[in-house]
Amino acid sequence: ATVPAIRLNNGVEIPQLGFGVYQVPPDRTVEAVRTALEVGYRHIDTAEMYGNEKEVGQAVRESGIDRSEVFVTSKLNNGFHRRGDALKAFDQTLDDLGFDYLDLFLIHWPLPTIDVDYVETWKAMEEIYAGGKCRAVGVSNFNPHHLRRLFGETEVRPAVNQIEVHPYLTNDEVRAFDAEHEIVTEAWSPIAQGKVLDDPAIVAIAEKLDRTPAQVVLRWHVQRGDVVFPKSVTRARVEENFALFDFELDEGQMATVTGLDRGERTGPDPDTFDYVP
Ligand code: NAD
Repeated sequence: ATVPAIRLNNGVEIPQLGFGVYQVPPDRTVEAVRTALEVGYRHIDTAEMYGNEKEVGQAVRESGIDRSEVFVTSKLNNGFHRRGDALKAFDQTLDDLGFDYLDLFLIHWPLPTIDVDYVETWKAMEEIYAGGKCRAVGVSNFNPHHLRRLFGETEVRPAVNQIEVHPYLTNDEVRAFDAEHEIVTEAWSPIAQGKVLDDPAIVAIAEKLDRTPAQVVLRWHVQRGDVVFPKSVTRARVEENFALFDFELDEGQMATVTGLDRGERTGPDPDTFDYVP
């Protein structure tokens, strides 16, 4: 079974399942991405902050797979929110990847408490999009109040909002707001970095379906319509996380997983996070 494509608000299609490379050390990234591409992944999620864009680019370029068949996302780092810095950072990202275009570029964090307004940063993203070397632009870790300001003061609607979502943080208010405004939600840390996999309710569903807990949780995301990109450097897990399209959770199982929500973040809160390297 193949990975479905989701159509973004500008018509560009993104594979619903990808491979994330946060915390993959640069010296293991070429091998990890090569493995993911061999397994069948055609969507890689990286960021300038992860320090492995060069290796992601190298693995994609050396794979022999046509560039147009691999969807690559990167993100603007927190130190580059001023217009000029953002434009330069995008060029640097392209250069490091060794690509002549990027599929999706995101503002990594809104940083509402620093002295650069993310509206200025989004206007730079609009310029990057207009420049034609990026097929879509979006945001990450934006809450509805951040997005409303963009809607009021800028032209281009973000194509995606990449936010933390997993069974312990279903984040349904932000997801609903995204959906209302034709913004695709991407769920980061989809298995809460492994924390949800021992949950008895998830283990029970996995046993019933003869699947693993990770597959149950990732399938739950897929059925909710979000884009996911689990991370692993272990080939067996990379394969396991890709095998999501030959089984289903029924309505009751979906509701059970959604009911595990307890508002628990594994990462920072977008309203207060202000780390600039
Ligand atoms: P994740 O939820 O994908 O969990 C990854 C960890 O879970 C692995 O390190 C491994 O220990 C374990 N794991 C993976 N597959 C498993 C399996 N089948 N069985 C058992 N354990 C397994 O966490 P993540 O890496 O934080 O999130 C995924 C991706 O989301 C990142 O790589 C990155 O691309 C993106 N992300 C974005 C942001 C952001 O601010 N935009 C923040 C965090 C992550």
